[in-house]
Amino acid sequence: MARYTDAVCKLCRREGKKLFLKGARCYTGKCALERRAYAPGQHGQGRKKASEYGMQLRAKQQTKRYYGVLESQFAKYYEMATKKPGKTGEELLSILETRLDNVVYRCGWASSRAEARQLVVHGHFAVNGKRVDIPSYLTKTGEVVSIVEKSRSLDKIKAVIEENSAHPIPKWLEVNRDAFEGKIVAAPVREDVDLDVDETLIVELYSK
Ligand code: SF4
Repeated sequence: MARYTDAVCKLCRREGKKLFLKGARCYTGKCALERRAYAPGQHGQGRKKASEYGMQLRAKQQTKRYYGVLESQFAKYYEMATKKPGKTGEELLSILETRLDNVVYRCGWASSRAEARQLVVHGHFAVNGKRVDIPSYLTKTGEVVSIVEKSRSLDKIKAVIEENSAHPIPKWLEVNRDAFEGKIVAAPVREDVDLDVDETLIVELYSK
């Protein structure tokens, strides 16, 4: 009998929605949320309606988990977002989208953000020709992210590119697969973010 083994899926079950943390598996019937659509733990199936605070907290947790960001880093991004001219919640999502690990994922060079993070740490990517191994590096409009030359022929990299070749590319990115390059052509906007979360709840939470 198939068995649910991976703790990362608990995060989706806790949030009650798919956060797509496991790559291709998330799109199959093996997805833990499809098999157990209730929160983990003894009281998972008997949860009551969330309070206003509970909903705000869940919105923040979902967003953190979606991007694989820790609390302190997330708070830092929020602070940055408050200093930007647009709506704070949307600016927050825009900042998160420009993280190097997310850009790698969006370019179709990894099947999940977790995998993208690992590939970045292992030094497979460059920004404007200079190797960058920091997943939290915030890319800027005009910068070009590329797979470093030595890595392009690695079986692992070739396999991951092949596996994600049909990955939809957001319009703020221009990907040249033959050149192993992705250019940030605009700042990501809210409609580019496919996370089903109400970011205004995060703003409400931090505004208390
Ligand atoms: Fe696990 Fe992916 Fe399903 Fe989430 S969406 S429960 S990470 S398989």
